Amino acid sequence: MKKIIPFVSDSNEDTIALWLSYLGNKMTDYQIVLFENLTLEQKLSADVAIVANPNPADIAQLKNLIWVQSLWAGVEKLLQDVPDASFDIVRMVDLSLADTMAQSVLAWTLYLHKNMALYKQQQDSKIWKQHREVAPEDKNIAILGLGNLGLASALKLKVNGFNVLGWGRSKKEIQGVTTYHGTLGLNQILRVADIVVCLLPLTPETNNLLDKRKLDLLSSNASIINFARAAIIDYKYLLEKIENSELSHAVLDVFDSEPLSEKSALWADPNITILPHISAPTNMKSAASITAKHINDFYTLGKKPKFIDKLKGY
Ligand code: NAP
Repeated sequence: MKKIIPFVSDSNEDTIALWLSYLGNKMTDYQIVLFENLTLEQKLSADVAIVANPNPADIAQLKNLIWVQSLWAGVEKLLQDVPDASFDIVRMVDLSLADTMAQSVLAWTLYLHKNMALYKQQQDSKIWKQHREVAPEDKNIAILGLGNLGLASALKLKVNGFNVLGWGRSKKEIQGVTTYHGTLGLNQILRVADIVVCLLPLTPETNNLLDKRKLDLLSSNASIINFARAAIIDYKYLLEKIENSELSHAVLDVFDSEPLSEKSALWADPNITILPHISAPTNMKSAASITAKHINDFYTLGKKPKFIDKLKGY
């Protein structure tokens, strides 16, 4: 009998079918079973589960879990939905995902650097006007969060000639990148940033981190790219500043409620670019391989994967 691994997901049918296929291909020694098809006995004997947007009520029925493998890099929602989980959580750490994020960061940095939004607005009004372009090495790109995604993005921007600055919780040394840490460091980096790229996890500490006071440190020519979580930035004040020309542009991929409501004022501002949470989708193929290795190492070698620090929230 193959070991049963529950798959708990509230995703749509097509997405679930794809996941089951990728995971099944990589985990032929195990039987991946969708939560709704588990017997009571299987639910109670499960010690490891794979989750992607799980319904908290489903997770609660797997009472003997030791750890769960999330298929997403961000586990903010899981931690929020299951705050007192007795099991440990493994998030998706995948080089291919980091590379996808770095590509998105580069693409949208170039979009801002090359004034693409402005030229589109000019075309709409048939305006022929050239704008002076600053050399990439004279553009300060400030990456907030130097973890898997932030580091890959910083290095990609550096290779493409930008002047890259980075900020994180702990002090870090990255060749060619000027790094900052702590509250003082955040104030310093915001004051000199031309483009701020947010790649922080959402935790009690980073919630509303870029509040009015922090946003006021940015120059009026500065722009923001948020590819992390909406609650890290005060969007209401951000919109106000953009409307008052106190900030140049914002590229937003993440929102408190997704899909973004049609009523949101963010849609209408020409200096806000809205993306439907696409900056770094999980790569199903590599994520299935990583999941398979974690689960196989656990059952065959007794080796536990790296768990997130639930107290820190990431
Ligand atoms: P990670 O490897 O855990 O890195 C997090 C980084 O943030 C670390 O450098 C950490 O500093 C820093 N940090 C955490 N709390 C901090 C604080 N209070 N002050 C200063 N720095 C702090 O995470 P990751 O894999 O890079 O992912 C980051 C986030 O990206 C995820 O949590 C998720 O929200 C988001 N994400 C978005 C998408 C998308 O499609 N939009 C896709 C994937 C992920 P230390 O190194 O000092 O601990």
